[in-house]
Amino acid sequence: MNSHIMPTYGRLAVSFSRGEGVWLWDEEGKRYLDALSGIAVCNLGHAHPQVHKAICKQSETLIHTSNLYGIPLQEKLAEKLCEKSGMENVFFSNSGAEANEAAIKIARVYGHQQGIDKPVVIVMEKSFHGRTMATLSATGNPKVQQGFTPLVEGFVHVPFNDITAIEAVISENKNCVAVLVEPIQGEGGVHIPADDYLNQIRSLCDKHQLLMMIDEIQTGIGRTGEFLAYQHNKILPDVCTIAKALGNGVPIGACLAKGTAAGILTAGMHGSTFGGNPLACSAALAVLETLDNDDLIATVHNKGEKITTSLTEKLKHITEVSNIRHKGLMIGIDLASPCMELVAKAQQHGLLISVTNEKTIRLLPPLIIDDSQIELLVTTLSTLIQEHLQ
Ligand SMILES: *Cc1c(COP(=O)(O)O)cnc(C)c1O
Repeated sequence: MNSHIMPTYGRLAVSFSRGEGVWLWDEEGKRYLDALSGIAVCNLGHAHPQVHKAICKQSETLIHTSNLYGIPLQEKLAEKLCEKSGMENVFFSNSGAEANEAAIKIARVYGHQQGIDKPVVIVMEKSFHGRTMATLSATGNPKVQQGFTPLVEGFVHVPFNDITAIEAVISENKNCVAVLVEPIQGEGGVHIPADDYLNQIRSLCDKHQLLMMIDEIQTGIGRTGEFLAYQHNKILPDVCTIAKALGNGVPIGACLAKGTAAGILTAGMHGSTFGGNPLACSAALAVLETLDNDDLIATVHNKGEKITTSLTEKLKHITEVSNIRHKGLMIGIDLASPCMELVAKAQQHGLLISVTNEKTIRLLPPLIIDDSQIELLVTTLSTLIQEHLQ
């Protein structure tokens, strides 16, 4: 079927022709509950009317002009993002990996400005930062790096959720310039760190004048119950990257910075042909306006709580279900043994989920999911898990 597509993905044998809200329909007209949102992208659900309207309207007048000229929609989006994040300025990209590339470039220039020739960014084991050469080198997963050596230098990996490990590297290695961390590791298996983990990294970065760089590509845009997950901690990073849900499916990413970090990239140092074009910015502006008008993010915590408490209730007698956890609508369910088959099985039963780290079922439902859809999700999934474990 995909003979002219490079086989970089193991795809399920299904294609969708239409979507609406949490629902997708395949080419035979069968309906699916999308509990993955195109991997944390369609946070407002599929075919959202405001996003639809915004990109239709924008495409009537102007899709692209390039960053050689002023782009008022980009200015407006940057202002809105800074207002919502507490950051000061923005570089727009087309993807998450590119947003992280910008962050890594900022960290390196920051180091060189202090006379550090070989700057080191501290990154985490089991992290995921993208598939470009620099971001796969930063990623803490040997499978992502396999075959692509030589890797980009300048990354030191430490265990996630371990402040002493970061401290130890900083004290041993005078070339440290930044810490790059996900607030919750998504691809790595929905690892939620201690409540004060980010606060402690903030203090360490302040003490040693390192840039604190947070990868919010999966956790951002309301997913965890705040616009950005670091807002649970009442801190501000120096650099923050977002992408996935920013355009609700229209490709757009952003690297946000403040303070010293905001002044590092100057004319000619970085760029992107498409980055922040009028079409993508119109989609992102519609996303931000919808989130604000519907007060959607305020509902996320309770929805996540409802899903995990009902799943816990339904699965409590099953010892092979070792842990159910969530922050907002980022949900992880650990089984005692590998359960990759569940993805295809769930799809056959009209439910789209993912399994990361072989044993962790990951749910990232659209933030607009309602009570009856939550009930359907919980009932279908708990039945599938019980059948799988029998
Ligand atoms: C998805 C993801 C990325 C990569 O984003 P792309 O748009 O696929 O390049 C980076 N970091 C995290 C935390 C992600 O979840």
